[in-house]
Amino acid sequence: MSYQERPLTCQDCAQSFSFTAEDQAFFAEKGYTNDPKRCPSCRLARRNRRPTDGFGSQGQSRAERQLYPAVCAQCGKGTQVPFQPSGTRPVYCSDCYSRRTAYSGR
Ligand SMILES: [Zn+2]
Ligand SMILES: [Zn+2]
Repeated sequence: MSYQERPLTCQDCAQSFSFTAEDQAFFAEKGYTNDPKRCPSCRLARRNRRPTDGFGSQGQSRAERQLYPAVCAQCGKGTQVPFQPSGTRPVYCSDCYSRRTAYSGR
């Protein structure tokens, strides 16, 4: 199967660019059935701005951070920590934690 270079218009900058035979082969290999909507330079610019955009919609939206309730070992205040308190190590609220790390300079 051979491909023929086709002229396309970029959706972003409205310039015409050629969808080369090489690109078409590459797209077919990747399983993309749609024509590219942007010229190579706009595609590159977009990719540099946002790593996960456009093609390949692998859901990577696990932004929710689980917080666990804990009691500060220093001041006894209730707080929340981003890890499960094991009970073997003291947990500090953000105030005490930053004060401690400031103190013991390590
Ligand atoms: Zn463009
Ligand atoms: Zn505290």
